[in-house]
Amino acid sequence: MMKRKMTWMSLGLLVLNVAAGQTEDLRTDSALVREVFSEVLAHGEAHENLRVLCKDIGHRLSGSRSADRAIAWGQAMMDQYGADTSYIMPVTVPAWTRGDVAEASATGADGRVMPLHITALGGSVPTPEEGWIEGPLLVVRQLDALDTLDARGHIVLFNRPMDPLLINTGAAYGGAFDQRGGGASAAAKAGAIGVLVRSLTHALDTLPHTGSLRYNADIPRIPAAAISTVDASALSQASKAATSPLTVRMRMNCVDLGTAEQGNVIGEWRGSERPDEIITLGGHLDSWDIGEGAHDDGSGVVHTLEALRALKAVGYTPQRTMRFVLFINEENGNRGGKKYAQVAAEEHLEGLRHVAAMESDAGGFVPRGVRMDALDSGVELVRSWAATLEPYNLHYFGRGGAGVDIGPLKELEPRPLLMGLVPDGQRYFDLHHSSQDVWENVHKRELELGAATCASMLLLLDRNLPTD
Ligand SMILES: [Zn+2]
Repeated sequence: MMKRKMTWMSLGLLVLNVAAGQTEDLRTDSALVREVFSEVLAHGEAHENLRVLCKDIGHRLSGSRSADRAIAWGQAMMDQYGADTSYIMPVTVPAWTRGDVAEASATGADGRVMPLHITALGGSVPTPEEGWIEGPLLVVRQLDALDTLDARGHIVLFNRPMDPLLINTGAAYGGAFDQRGGGASAAAKAGAIGVLVRSLTHALDTLPHTGSLRYNADIPRIPAAAISTVDASALSQASKAATSPLTVRMRMNCVDLGTAEQGNVIGEWRGSERPDEIITLGGHLDSWDIGEGAHDDGSGVVHTLEALRALKAVGYTPQRTMRFVLFINEENGNRGGKKYAQVAAEEHLEGLRHVAAMESDAGGFVPRGVRMDALDSGVELVRSWAATLEPYNLHYFGRGGAGVDIGPLKELEPRPLLMGLVPDGQRYFDLHHSSQDVWENVHKRELELGAATCASMLLLLDRNLPTD
């Protein structure tokens, strides 16, 4: 599946460079960053590429036919934008389909019926024989509350909101995530027959926000759905006011389809001076299926492609090898990220060293800076670029997780410098994993600023990483 190509133009440039006796770009960091931003803002193709990805291809759930189409498109774009080599790194991914039924309602003692907006959590089993299940409602806020409750025959609602006091919405999401990830097995262990999880968003709306769940191997698998925040709050209030428990019924017809063979899309641009040192930039090509995966992570995909296009367009010559990667299966297994790190570990043994990696998987909103998962020396290096990045309102250089897909690379020795793009996150979870994560909700200019930031970080890494 390997496809190699070198254009006459890149061959010509190489000859010119060799003839001139140098391949180093003599422009300053600041001048290059300015050229990259100008290129992306004047001639950017990220927004149009995102339209194609979202509208012509659609959602890209792992194992789906549309994910297959996205993989072919991604490789064609790598070639179009001048990668020296493009290939698909095979990855076995889970295949699961939501089906077309996800219904629920609650009935009070007075007979009043409240319809509920739900959708299956990714990987959920269907309700038995795809029919209705029905049971008294039990509302809890913490998984461990179930240790002392009898939930036999109940449908459990996990209703702990994301913490509104945390300014980092990703941290608030992480703090509430256990309900979605582990709620089904915790409830099943206590005897529950079904689970509803308050959608992980600060927004008060009637949209269910899906996402993956994880069943414990030794506990029965029960159906689990996301429920809108408005419905979760209403259910909780009605439950508190009622003298007898509300009755909840739900049904879903999702199906586990086993596995499928897909892969990470990789475009490589060989370094002129240190080709055995690799800098990776990526986002994930897969998405949830109820929207278009526009912010999550179509934005990261087009940021990655645009970085390649823009760096070529300004005539940059990388010293190190740059890898542009569209990962598969971030949403429900991270098998693409794990496979990439496994291959990277093998490459290390052959002398190919992964020195840095960057991920864009926090949406297409206006960029604020980067979050680093790195040794102190790496963090200090990136912070030394503050003055270069200041004209672009890039001020955030904190520590923390760099991205799910590149995360497994931190096991490499020596440890690569990992960083994640940090866009403004206040509205990200309004759309995240919902039917509203569509192209129309991505702002062209904000998307472009993110792409230019990714391209700039890539060239700053290439020019400033220490040599040994
Ligand atoms: Zn994502």
